Amino acid sequence: MAGTLQDKVVLVTGGASGIGRATCLAVAREGAKVVVSDIDAKGGEETVGFITQKGGQATFIKCNVAKKDEVEALIDGVVKAYGRIDGAFNNAGIEGTPADTIVCTDENFDKIIDINVKGVWLCMRAELRQMQKQGNGAIVNTASVAGLVGFEGLPAYVASKHAVIGLTKTGALEFAKSGVRINAVCPGVIETPMIDRLFAGVPEAREGFKDKEPVGRYGKPEEIGEAVTWLLSDQASFVTGVAMPVDGGLVSQ
Ligand code: NAD
Repeated sequence: MAGTLQDKVVLVTGGASGIGRATCLAVAREGAKVVVSDIDAKGGEETVGFITQKGGQATFIKCNVAKKDEVEALIDGVVKAYGRIDGAFNNAGIEGTPADTIVCTDENFDKIIDINVKGVWLCMRAELRQMQKQGNGAIVNTASVAGLVGFEGLPAYVASKHAVIGLTKTGALEFAKSGVRINAVCPGVIETPMIDRLFAGVPEAREGFKDKEPVGRYGKPEEIGEAVTWLLSDQASFVTGVAMPVDGGLVSQ
């Protein structure tokens, strides 16, 4: 039986780890030809290996999403290889160094905004130029529950994820009549290396925060991958401009 993304060309940034890797595997399972991208070439090639071992199709292109020239070369590379981009998951992001607003450094703030906001915008711009030529396409950006509510100690990260939702809604409106849908996924706390780093050295905080989760546990990267796979597929044909929480009920409280 054909998958929901059969023969579609799907690009995933941040595909070397965590949510990006799980999404690469999910879209490949649904028949997509996957372009895995990341600054981490070793991890990205590993993701490609997991896909091809299962009989799927994938290639790796290295790219730092905060660098305009690299992003444009990435999109050119996808189009050169496959002739089109049907789906893009703009997921690469960093947590930065946790620090309250009054002690957050300029460097920390700028780095988070450069990767999480400018990176998503650079990718969207290049992808949309291609999708406009095609007359169709679907984009999903990774925001966060931190794009919907505030979290103490993460001022730049929270600002960056609110901005991703703004970029998503604006692009969705601009392209609503052009056959291109743009949505954001807002993961809750998901068990990935990012969360290991954020809770490093404070296992009691890691356990304690679970009490705030209505479902009583953290999410798995695969649970985000499934939501993104649906949003990228034609099954979500009437869905654009949404910021979808996939968070075990965290922001419903
Ligand atoms: P992760 O650290 O496991 O994966 C992030 C990936 O992005 C890594 O492979 C890393 O090499 C890559 N990356 C970082 N900077 C990059 C750059 N400049 N260019 C290209 N690639 C770059 O983390 P994750 O948890 O899988 O996070 C993926 C996305 O999900 C991020 O945008 C993150 O903010 C978001 N998110 C995560 C959680 C969570 O709880 N894990 C919750 C909400 C949102």
